[in-house]
Amino acid sequence: MDYRSPWLDDELDMFREAARRFIRQEIVPNDDRWREQHHVDRALWNKAGEVGLLCTDIPAEYGGVGGDARHEAVVAEEMGRHGISSFGHVVHSILAHYVLNYGSEEQKHRWLPRMASGELVGAIAMTEPGAGSDLQAVKTRAVRDGDHYVLNGSKTFISNGLHAGLVGVVAKTDATKGAKGISIVMVETGGQAGYRVGRVLDKIGQNGWDTAELFFDDCRVPAANLLGPAEGQGFIQLMRDLPYERALLALGGVGAMEYALQLTVEYTRNRKAFGQALLEMQNTRFRLADVKTRVQVARVFIDDCIGKLSRGELDTATASMAKLWVTETQCQVIDECLQFFGGYGYMREYPISKLYVDARVQRIYGGASEVMREIVARTL
Ligand SMILES: Cc1cc2nc3c(=O)[nH]c(=O)nc-3n(C[C@H](O)[C@H](O)[C@H](O)COP(=O)(O)OP(=O)(O)OC[C@H]3O[C@@H](n4cnc5c(N)ncnc54)[C@H](O)[C@@H]3O)c2cc1C
Repeated sequence: MDYRSPWLDDELDMFREAARRFIRQEIVPNDDRWREQHHVDRALWNKAGEVGLLCTDIPAEYGGVGGDARHEAVVAEEMGRHGISSFGHVVHSILAHYVLNYGSEEQKHRWLPRMASGELVGAIAMTEPGAGSDLQAVKTRAVRDGDHYVLNGSKTFISNGLHAGLVGVVAKTDATKGAKGISIVMVETGGQAGYRVGRVLDKIGQNGWDTAELFFDDCRVPAANLLGPAEGQGFIQLMRDLPYERALLALGGVGAMEYALQLTVEYTRNRKAFGQALLEMQNTRFRLADVKTRVQVARVFIDDCIGKLSRGELDTATASMAKLWVTETQCQVIDECLQFFGGYGYMREYPISKLYVDARVQRIYGGASEVMREIVARTL
């Protein structure tokens, strides 16, 4: 069955080859070690920057690769197809997009070239111990004091938290105003007094990705680090960029499902029981036929989203549908696939087991499935 994503072209095929080579040489051989230590080696970011895999859709005038959302899509897809969850390039790109879309010229020139080279790793700090889905409840404060903001508060579950050199901190600049009192203040973490990384958290999956706690104690940053020309725009900035984040998370999920199916077909073709290959049993063939059908439906839907995203046409509800349906389907499909591995599927040395534990959080971060349903339901 020949299906080719309609948004691909020859240039993207070559870009994919380069991404694949990098993943196979630099990431796959180290991934188990990174899962043990709960973070990638810091040097990976610089290496990825050198070969042009960071900020692929940021214009060249700001040091980016000068591609579009399709380039980011290729990277996310290839990571998914190799079962890689350790490298937080999507979060890095999301932060770069906030700078690109809402930063001043000075801010773009200050941060984007260093993000593209891997000198600065990006993180987005929204979630707090008392505020996750309900972002308006954040307690971190950014109080103006002359030419500075003084930040106080704590964040948790922050991806890229250990390595982050630039953090977009979601904070209240006016605690009396709810959503309109929220701003994004950028913190350059290198040598920053009052900034501290807490624990790198011990997760059930995605163990190679540094998810950390961050603390801000009288952390003074220049007022020029406010994102956007005025205070109070943080909530709107976050909402506007959500389709980008959700489409890329969903795409990674499709890549992971495609990889799971490939692994399962290979395994069941070779594994014998009761005198025949598992793949010759009708139950296996029917169930994997169902899996393949669902993966293909997900693929066609996400391809439509990626096409729209690259043309600037992807709306929030459609991106939420993609995040909702793909990540729920991802968990079901990978569970189904793991079953065919029997006891081996439960062993960490088998990639299907990693796909299984890595998938679960896809339904929680980037907006939980229930929040996605709320957004979709508003369009009924
Ligand atoms: C591995 C990982 C990486 C993460 N990375 C980041 C990051 O880089 N930056 C960042 O800021 N955050 C990050 N997060 C946080 C993540 O976005 C939040 O965990 C998520 O938004 C849910 O918030 P919460 O955990 O506080 O759960 P809660 O908000 O307490 O929600 C708990 C559950 O309640 C239900 N629920 C919530 N709201 C509704 C509703 N409106 N209607 C019906 N049911 C609802 C859902 O089932 C939800 O799962 C990460 C989390 C994890 C686990």
